[in-house]
Amino acid sequence: MIDITASRTVGLARLATFTPNMGHNYAHKRNFDYGLEANLAQETWRDNVSKLSPFIRHRLITETELITLAIEAHGAQATEKFVTEILWRAYFKGWLEQRPEVWADYVHTRDVQFKLLKADGGRRNIYEKAIAGETGIDAFDHWAKQLKSHGYLHNHARMWFASIWIFTLDLPWQLGADFFLQYLLDGDAASNSLSWRWVGGLHTKRKTYLATQDNIVQFTDGRFKPVGLATTANPLTENKNYKLRPLKIPPQPPAASAFALLVHEEDCRPESLQLPQKPSLIIGVSGPDGKSPRGVSDQVRAFANQAVDDAITRAADHFQCDKIMWKKGEKLQDILKRAKIERLLSPWLPVGALRDAIGKEMRGNNVRWVMRDYDAALWPLATKGFFAVKKKAPDALRAIGIKL
Ligand SMILES: Cc1cc2nc3c(=O)[nH]c(=O)nc-3n(C[C@H](O)[C@H](O)[C@H](O)COP(=O)(O)OP(=O)(O)OC[C@H]3O[C@@H](n4cnc5c(N)ncnc54)[C@H](O)[C@@H]3O)c2cc1C
Repeated sequence: MIDITASRTVGLARLATFTPNMGHNYAHKRNFDYGLEANLAQETWRDNVSKLSPFIRHRLITETELITLAIEAHGAQATEKFVTEILWRAYFKGWLEQRPEVWADYVHTRDVQFKLLKADGGRRNIYEKAIAGETGIDAFDHWAKQLKSHGYLHNHARMWFASIWIFTLDLPWQLGADFFLQYLLDGDAASNSLSWRWVGGLHTKRKTYLATQDNIVQFTDGRFKPVGLATTANPLTENKNYKLRPLKIPPQPPAASAFALLVHEEDCRPESLQLPQKPSLIIGVSGPDGKSPRGVSDQVRAFANQAVDDAITRAADHFQCDKIMWKKGEKLQDILKRAKIERLLSPWLPVGALRDAIGKEMRGNNVRWVMRDYDAALWPLATKGFFAVKKKAPDALRAIGIKL
């Protein structure tokens, strides 16, 4: 497994190692899950997916950097698959940002499902076995354990896992999504909850994903042969049609009096934000435990906290100013008062647990949002399905200076 120290330096080193495999190898091998124990030193083609997601999700590395580097290294045609996968992330982010109720409903139903679980011994037993990796379904049990030990699963494994959770074990998808958010180093409100909805047939209405033995045998290189899998996947239903609330892109904040820059775990690359002038103070904040009522694993907590620490250290150095952490229970207003600063700038805080936790307090503090060009160009395109985003993405990316 790769080094998962949450720093930009470590992320860039992983990026450099993976760059030779971003083109042809990724396009042809990305669906194989060879396992984390695969011998990458001798068979570098088995290094078929980047495993960069914890770094990308916390924006220790930005999508703009990734796409630019991929195209420089291999050309647009050879990296089409890799770039497409990066665009999936923007699609999910934009889709959820424009339908925040989907997240709010997920949070509400997840909590209801945890309460129901207490009263239903039979289902609780299945749930406990699933998260312990003791169902008797070999692949599923392996992934449950890998998720807890390494905080990472291959994309195909996530799809199979979610499908088995929903259609074979008949467990509520919200509890599976919560299990992922407790343990995934890249746990993200948009990519996670919308992918679970997609597997269950709620995202693309009535289109489900069924995990089959043959497919798992083939794409795990024969490492697993799971038995007892569901043979049908009837779509989940909900009696709600989520309304699109078109995204309002915030205007660039004007140059004015001194301001503090908030650096949060959703965007740990403050040096590349478009700011009107240098900040006078960097305030760091992270709150990974809000992702689940059960809290997150030590690894997930450490990754988010280290990522913010790494980011504020870089930012203070880059902007030559002081840095401070906004600690739990402390009022943001008090920090600003002590520093004699009235204005606060913050990179956009997307829909998710951190916005639920600190969004309200920030709004009362003269805050201006800074949205990256990449998000402003792509997120509004996520009005329906992914393929509309993919079609319009080349023009949108060219318009912000990414050469395709
Ligand atoms: C049920 C389920 C839950 C998921 N939960 C998350 C999550 O919480 N956070 C998360 O970042 N991704 C999530 N994904 C998407 C995807 O599985 C991971 O991004 C990917 O496996 C990360 O591994 P990688 O970095 O090696 O990917 P690579 O294949 O190397 O891809 C490069 C980057 O592109 C992006 N990407 C690739 N595939 C997808 C995808 N299908 N959707 C969105 N972005 C993608 C990621 O940022 C990834 O790091 C989920 C998928 C499923 C099916």
